[in-house]
Amino acid sequence: MSKIVILGAGISGHVAAAHLRRKLSKEHEVVVVSPNSNYQWVPSNIWVGIGRMKSEKILFPLAPLYKKKGIGYKQAKALSFHPEGDKKEEKPYILAEYVVGENKGQQEKVTYDYLINATGPKLDFEATEGLIPGQNKAYSVCTYSHADHAWAGLKALIQEMKKGKKAKILIGTGHAKSTCQGAAFEYILNVEQELRNHKVRDMAEITWISNEYSLGDFGMDGVLMSYGDMIMKSSEMVEMIFDDRGIKWILEAGVNKIEDGIAHYENLDGEQKSETYDFAMLIPAFSGHGFKAFDKNEKEITEKLFKGFMLVDADYTQKPYEEWSVQDWPETYQNPSYKNIFAPGIAFAPPHTISKPRFSKNGTAIFPAPPRTGMPSGITAKLVSENIIDSIKTNKESLNHRGSMGNMGAACIASAGFGFWKGSGVSITTFPIVPDFEKYPDSHGRHLGKTFGAIGLAGHWLKLMLHHAFIYKAKMKPFWWLIPE
Ligand SMILES: Cc1cc2nc3c(=O)[nH]c(=O)nc-3n(C[C@H](O)[C@H](O)[C@H](O)COP(=O)(O)OP(=O)(O)OC[C@H]3O[C@@H](n4cnc5c(N)ncnc54)[C@H](O)[C@@H]3O)c2cc1C
Repeated sequence: MSKIVILGAGISGHVAAAHLRRKLSKEHEVVVVSPNSNYQWVPSNIWVGIGRMKSEKILFPLAPLYKKKGIGYKQAKALSFHPEGDKKEEKPYILAEYVVGENKGQQEKVTYDYLINATGPKLDFEATEGLIPGQNKAYSVCTYSHADHAWAGLKALIQEMKKGKKAKILIGTGHAKSTCQGAAFEYILNVEQELRNHKVRDMAEITWISNEYSLGDFGMDGVLMSYGDMIMKSSEMVEMIFDDRGIKWILEAGVNKIEDGIAHYENLDGEQKSETYDFAMLIPAFSGHGFKAFDKNEKEITEKLFKGFMLVDADYTQKPYEEWSVQDWPETYQNPSYKNIFAPGIAFAPPHTISKPRFSKNGTAIFPAPPRTGMPSGITAKLVSENIIDSIKTNKESLNHRGSMGNMGAACIASAGFGFWKGSGVSITTFPIVPDFEKYPDSHGRHLGKTFGAIGLAGHWLKLMLHHAFIYKAKMKPFWWLIPE
């Protein structure tokens, strides 16, 4: 009998738990440890943040589902890792602390045979002074409760605009090294459309602020793509979209301090500037959770497991940008020191960024961290669980299932306005996510036939369809496994 413990019930952890439970007989234990009581379909937070979807529509409680499916569930947060056990406990374990109920505050050693760390990123608001969701007129849409607050803030501003107030709206990244530009891009387009719906578009100046060197970098160093019969750069496409909608932009901006209605930033020229606003949505930095690890003698061994995020089978050798290779990216998400620990989704440490590193004249790093979107999070979780299933069934380590962000695509569908007939969507499909300059030397490291952009109502329908399909799948309804990651 094996016991698999999964930390986190986000896209990655939940996908892993579902596949493991489906394919392993009941003699094996699958246990999820996660602090949230709900599963949330994060991409639809955008619609919650414009008041077009209630947050209840994008979440459901985990406990009843896990009970029905025979998945163990501890509503607790992991505190530290003990991959060799300790002086009293022979088995490897993670130390977890319950966050609700009678057991709240109680700690437990949760032992395992296999551990999947799917804790995603820590939303590191503290890395930017004054950036606190819901305060200083600045908001986030990274969780459903943040998105609820964002809509409350935006709605109040819309009411003031209806009474004649001229407003400034600022949307983008709230830290010099933030990632998730795609989510901010989607939000700015939705906000712009929502102001039109409320007939107050002419009262607002809308500005994109970002740590990108050029528009449409999205932390992927931009994409060269086919667009209808043309070949286009993502920078050109985004510029066209912003121009068309009257959205201004500030690039190369490392936001470092937020005051009530003022965003302070440094740019690549080393200038300290600021931008005022009446409503802002700024994506925070993402970091590791700061977990510590200990060996069986209780000596700290954090560096064997973490480099911010968790160490996996990537090539972490420090090398100049010109020597970066697609082969540096991991394929099995297995920790090199402890072969029974895996980290799919956002929880693994990337070997380096994808966007070219750039530093201001003062030496401040201002460029996006690598994005890790839902599709690779689901795919990597599935392949990790399949390797664990094979290893359990054959009783020997199996790593046959592999997939790197260098041979995986990402479909980013940014809805650009909600509505069955009036909605719109901007779809950018990229293959591979990490450019492979050897295979595709003439197209900026990407396969042009599989890297394309489109704008139109179909994009909105697709996004809506994905919302329903992925919530259906997450609820593990009949034949859920037929829906791809
Ligand atoms: C607003 C927004 C819109 C997005 N839109 C898209 C999109 O359109 N398409 C797309 O592909 N991607 C999109 N993404 C990205 C996508 O949501 C992420 O790639 C995905 O959620 C990552 O999954 P994950 O499981 O690795 O991490 P997460 O989803 O962050 O899950 C991490 C889990 O770990 C838990 N956890 C945290 N700390 C602990 C702890 N100490 N112990 C145990 N558990 C812990 C959390 O509670 C959570 O359950 C969007 C992201 C945002 C913020």
